[in-house]
Amino acid sequence: MRQDHSLWEVLKSDVLIIGGGFGGLWAALRAAESGASVTLVDKSFAGKSGHSYFAGGAMMVLLPEDDPDEYVYDITLGNEWLVDQEMVAGVFKGSYDRLKDLESFGFPFRKKGGAYVWTKARGTRNVKNLWPEHATAADEVTILRKVALSRDVKVVDHVYIYDLVKDANCGIAGAVGIGVKDPKNYLLHAKSVVIATNSGGYRGHHLACELQGTGPFMAYDAGARIKNPEFHYINIRPAKHEIEGSGILPAIGARWTNAKGVHYMDTYDPVLKDRAPVSKIVVAAAKEAIKGNAPISIDVEGMTEEEREKFRVLQVSHGWMPILFEKCRREEGYDPLQDNIEWQPAYEANKLGVDADLNCGTAIEGLFAAGMARPLGINPFTGWSIASCTWSGYRAGESAGEYAKGTELKAIDFNALTESTETFLEPLKSGQGVDPDSLVHEIQKILFRLMP
Ligand SMILES: Cc1cc2nc3c(=O)[nH]c(=O)nc-3n(C[C@H](O)[C@H](O)[C@H](O)COP(=O)(O)OP(=O)(O)OC[C@H]3O[C@@H](n4cnc5c(N)ncnc54)[C@H](O)[C@@H]3O)c2cc1C
Repeated sequence: MRQDHSLWEVLKSDVLIIGGGFGGLWAALRAAESGASVTLVDKSFAGKSGHSYFAGGAMMVLLPEDDPDEYVYDITLGNEWLVDQEMVAGVFKGSYDRLKDLESFGFPFRKKGGAYVWTKARGTRNVKNLWPEHATAADEVTILRKVALSRDVKVVDHVYIYDLVKDANCGIAGAVGIGVKDPKNYLLHAKSVVIATNSGGYRGHHLACELQGTGPFMAYDAGARIKNPEFHYINIRPAKHEIEGSGILPAIGARWTNAKGVHYMDTYDPVLKDRAPVSKIVVAAAKEAIKGNAPISIDVEGMTEEEREKFRVLQVSHGWMPILFEKCRREEGYDPLQDNIEWQPAYEANKLGVDADLNCGTAIEGLFAAGMARPLGINPFTGWSIASCTWSGYRAGESAGEYAKGTELKAIDFNALTESTETFLEPLKSGQGVDPDSLVHEIQKILFRLMP
């Protein structure tokens, strides 16, 4: 059959990275370092999209004086033993080198008297979170994008990827996408592919939808395995509206309090108390509510001025925090660092990802997975996500670069591609149905009705 190429804008490279957050940008940097030609594609603007751009920037790092076994134990325990301990060890082993890389790129971390400023990560006994000097993670991904461009990574923004492409022997051959700002069909033809789209995130609070990653589903459709779909992230957040970054308050000294004014976490986790992993905090809040002790709040009134100042320096001094704090004061009439407000557990995200090994390889040859698109544990900790996305990006980029060296670009069946595009676009042709945002709002209304 005649092959019709005319519908396609074709971009060729050794390595294709899908997604431009921490996972994707680190993968691009590392693959380029190995000498591979690299394309990074994002449905939005790589480095200014996804979760990474909005993150507070706390990053777990194993400093040379720290004990790696203690770190691995803490993260394993906090994941209730349901995490790959070799992976955890790998994340920490490379963390100091990545910290040094970031500093060499011009992204310094906060220091006092020559030593790094750190806080103990919530949910751990000994793990240190380091903090960006002047900035949030937004500036970190912005710098990573610049470094990627300086290493000749071809960055393709505003192209939504909807399918992986394989050849007749089921070898990976790239991906297909559609322009978000132009009506073109894109074929990103590559020898190896890294999925770094994040996984499905969905917030139960505040009518905000954080759906990121369709990548794991694309990989599943192409024959990869999915891991951890049975695990979910239930978070606890301010009940009325979001104050991002306030989740670290218990790590600084704030205490969980019930309606009777009792600091109850000592009963539920006698060791870590208010700094317990989020899963324990959520279960404790639910049990307190069942006992008739709701509403739950976070006691900032009882913090010392020194603790408040630490929080101000780390969080309120930069990024989104000053804006959010100002909004609370102006529009709601309270100060999140002085006044206790109600907090409430709610669904936040699924923990599924493409099953991947320690080299970030998947069941499909030539397909790798990085960042939250691969399983990185079942319980999130502030600082772990950035550390583990950084590790997996770096590792996936290295593996994808190596793989590309030993293989050729595979043949493409353009007629099959056209079929796949038609299937993807089919729902748009009906001109009927609900738009996705109103569907999200309907689901959230149901969730809110079910909440106490
Ligand atoms: C508000 C907030 C604060 C946080 N604070 C911290 C913190 O202080 N410390 C910490 O460790 N963690 C924090 N996290 C978690 C951490 O930021 C994330 O886990 C991490 O950034 C995920 O990185 P990623 O590369 O896997 O995904 P993302 O950063 O979400 O990047 C995925 C990218 O893929 C693109 N993409 C998705 N689907 C497609 C597709 N089909 N085609 C093309 N492109 C696609 C998206 O546009 C996006 O750019 C925070 C998260 C949030 C939301």
